[in-house]
Amino acid sequence: MKQDNSYDLPYAGLKLGVHAFDWTLGQDFLEDHGAEGFKNMRLTVALELEKKERLMDLKFHINGSLTTACDRCGEDVEIEMDHEDHLVVKLSNETDLTDDEVVFIDESEHAFSVEQFIYEFIMVGLPSRTVHPEGECDPEVMKYLEDINLEEGQKEDEEKEIDPRWEALKKLKH
Ligand SMILES: [Zn+2]
Repeated sequence: MKQDNSYDLPYAGLKLGVHAFDWTLGQDFLEDHGAEGFKNMRLTVALELEKKERLMDLKFHINGSLTTACDRCGEDVEIEMDHEDHLVVKLSNETDLTDDEVVFIDESEHAFSVEQFIYEFIMVGLPSRTVHPEGECDPEVMKYLEDINLEEGQKEDEEKEIDPRWEALKKLKH
């Protein structure tokens, strides 16, 4: 279920200084954003917002766990996430300015949604490769993969033996 506005920071109404926000995200958050291949997500997002004149300094801390498929055996593996990210939001009339860590919003805006940023930070916080610790992969799958590797190894050996012309050439060269 999607709750509109729940990730909006009420920019205009905040006093200068530090404010804290937090969200608890479940699996539905990922599904709303079309992310596939994950389950059992439980993440908390803590945001420290410092409002200054004409800008907001946002520090995100994302913490929790989610489950995805192991890159080695394909079985479920739980990923622990502890990720920090940073964003600066500036008020400007020139909202088409670009900068990697700075977002410009129009001065007439009263709220700023961090929903898309939270999603992107979760994706950035994921490890590039997710595998079980050594020796904890599904033993049946690992046995199957090992057999395939063995068969391929044997085929290569046979091919080497089968080609006597190559052997003969090598002898001629010497
Ligand atoms: Zn595995």
